[in-house]
Amino acid sequence: MNCNDFSYGAYGELLDLLLETRTNLCFQDTNDGKLESSCVVLRHDIDYSPEAALRMAEFEAQRGVRSTYFLLFSSSYYNLFEVEQSSFPERLVALGHEVGLHYDVQSLEKLKRPGQHGHEELYKQAEMLSALAGKDVKSISMHNPSISGVDPYARTDFINAYDVKYIRDISYFSDSCGAWRDDFVACVQENSFPRQLQLLIHPIFWQEESRSRWATLERFHLEKVNRFGRYQQETQKLWNSHSGVMEHDRRNSAWEGLMDPNVGRGPYEPV
Ligand SMILES: [Zn+2]
Repeated sequence: MNCNDFSYGAYGELLDLLLETRTNLCFQDTNDGKLESSCVVLRHDIDYSPEAALRMAEFEAQRGVRSTYFLLFSSSYYNLFEVEQSSFPERLVALGHEVGLHYDVQSLEKLKRPGQHGHEELYKQAEMLSALAGKDVKSISMHNPSISGVDPYARTDFINAYDVKYIRDISYFSDSCGAWRDDFVACVQENSFPRQLQLLIHPIFWQEESRSRWATLERFHLEKVNRFGRYQQETQKLWNSHSGVMEHDRRNSAWEGLMDPNVGRGPYEPV
């Protein structure tokens, strides 16, 4: 595997390499950290794009690979309550994957009521995600651990992806920010991965053709801009067909017509 290659082809090679002699596990299969002697706990944190997650979920399902997809309610880039995106959790489950809660400590702290320790909000989010997934959420992972400080939600009834059982007792590798650390590259070069490991992959960085992290970010941004262009047109259509808007604009056109007979304004045309 070429560590600069973020194509599905390279990801498939990595999965083949790791799973040839190791059992593939989701967090819900990990038996409270009592892991098999040779295993890969596969995890995806979805910070940006459920669409990229679904593409990866389909790619993995075709290869008989399962993973835990951790979904975030407080993302700036997607909204699990939006009609189109609300089906993502159950589609991931239908492909055989586990859906877990990706939680943002800063967001949960803001929701915390006086006198509460905040766990109530975490459980509420897990319950909402369970409803969307059609299956109980059992596992959670913290968003942005490098900038969120100490995790007040480390001890709950959920399986936590950052429990020492999954990041210290076994090896832990991540492609965070579309980059591999030296220890991962050394394992690839020497073909010497440890027997037990957790692998965190962010689907946003992986596609059919490998791209740099910056090209990926640029393309993702462009897709969002195009989507918001579509939303703008839909909103304009909705407003133009609203009877109150028609009355309002007709009245103004009539008034402007009185002032200047050459002036008249029809419904707003989308740009
Ligand atoms: Zn995250």
